Amino acid sequence: MLRIAAASWFSLALLAQAPVPPAPAPTAATPELPALGAPAPLPDGAPPHLTLVERDGLRTHAYWLADDARQGRYTGSKAQQATAKYVADHFQKLGLKPLGDKKGFLQTFPLNRVWLDPVTSLQFGTTKVTGNFAVLPAGRDDKVSLSGKFAFCGGGRGDEVKGDLKGKIAVVALTKAPRGGGAAADVGAVNLYRDIARKLAGAGASAAVVCLLDNDSSLANTLNYHALLPDHAALSRSAAERGQALSVPLFLIPATTSAALLAHLHLDGTGAGTPDEKATGKLQITVKSDDKGSSSNIVAVLEGKGRKQEAVVFSAHHDHVGQRLDGDSFNGADDNASGTAGLLEIAEAFAKGGDRPERSIVFLSVSGEELGLWGSAWFADHPTWPLDKIVADVNIDMIGRATEASGKTVIGVTPSNSHGKYSTMVREAHRLADLLGMTFTSGDQYYERSDHFNFAKKGVPVVFFCDGEHPDYHQVTDHADKLDYPKMEQVARLAFWTGWQVANGKDKPKDLGPQNGW
Ligand SMILES: [Zn+2]
Repeated sequence: MLRIAAASWFSLALLAQAPVPPAPAPTAATPELPALGAPAPLPDGAPPHLTLVERDGLRTHAYWLADDARQGRYTGSKAQQATAKYVADHFQKLGLKPLGDKKGFLQTFPLNRVWLDPVTSLQFGTTKVTGNFAVLPAGRDDKVSLSGKFAFCGGGRGDEVKGDLKGKIAVVALTKAPRGGGAAADVGAVNLYRDIARKLAGAGASAAVVCLLDNDSSLANTLNYHALLPDHAALSRSAAERGQALSVPLFLIPATTSAALLAHLHLDGTGAGTPDEKATGKLQITVKSDDKGSSSNIVAVLEGKGRKQEAVVFSAHHDHVGQRLDGDSFNGADDNASGTAGLLEIAEAFAKGGDRPERSIVFLSVSGEELGLWGSAWFADHPTWPLDKIVADVNIDMIGRATEASGKTVIGVTPSNSHGKYSTMVREAHRLADLLGMTFTSGDQYYERSDHFNFAKKGVPVVFFCDGEHPDYHQVTDHADKLDYPKMEQVARLAFWTGWQVANGKDKPKDLGPQNGW
């Protein structure tokens, strides 16, 4: 699910003005995974297809998708492309018809990108840092090469940045990084970096190294949204998103590398001591950009047996937010390996479960969601199925956790009965949830934060199932072993059944407006 106010580094200038506030994957048959028990029995009247949406299959997909080998499925990365292939292969095996570009399953959309040239590195003593670092750039064409003495500037405070830094490699060590999550912490962290860069520039520096002595701080997450990482281009949808971000580019290194650099400067692990003013090294930063980036959605269709010109769309995003600068992956098990696993099982149930529905079913696995719902926006603007023949979108994103927000048998739903877009489809979903032993809680706070929103904006009725934010949301701790597979089974079945009813219903879903009850 999209983070609130997720913004690219191009928006740093805006942010700064805001007030501060491949190893093989384990499978279900792998012995170390605990037995999940038998799938839940189907309630009376349920389509038999639902037996094919089951916990072991969901877990197999979720473990593959949330494996470290997927490297956090960052949009446009090789790992995201491998994930897209996994989904496309699954659709192909099921005999679904491709609905992407050029009669394939992939629908490609163009992106601008800014990335680090591989020469970007830091050298000191016998160490050469070519990976596990981040760069906060000053612009799209930074080209800095410094070779010579390091100049230690403490924590980058006013009285610590002194002397003439021209031609020197300035070093700042941050022991206390801003903590807390979300956009407010981003603004705080970005302002801190911006302030440090301004002071360093004022003292004549043309670039600097920032030692992060605390990997688990929110700074590491902030960097994932705002910095350039090796093999991790910053993407944007338009070249117009330009801006001078920082006064000088900053090269940021995690705790282990920081300790080695500080030792090279004869300082202890906290940056305390008298720095060796003769210590030398080399810092190179080269930023490049072009408009040749791209990412893709995977689209497939199962033709209905009756009114097959009309379709119900099932959507789920498969991308996530990549890797942290210390190399740890944001595995995104709940966000959104869970929904993607659900989509794969739902497709399997439609394709192999027996009777086909009256209307057609479109399966849409999008990328670019975490960057701003880009893949679904592209599909809504360039639909490969006529938009006026799409009768509903059923979207699933984060359906695998029994969290504070939603318990084991509770699922967040939007538009809820108090939302203006509450519809006959959601009312029917509520009835089916009751049969499955589930209850609804309002998910209206997430109405604009996942891919259904791009359908809603075009006037397509939507329903979104989501268990809501939890402490592992967008953290490196969102692992597949924390998912509640029996709950996922229920929610994925509910999504299937809801779409099944719409696909077979005489009428299309209709808006009801806010209601007292569900
Ligand atoms: Zn997310």
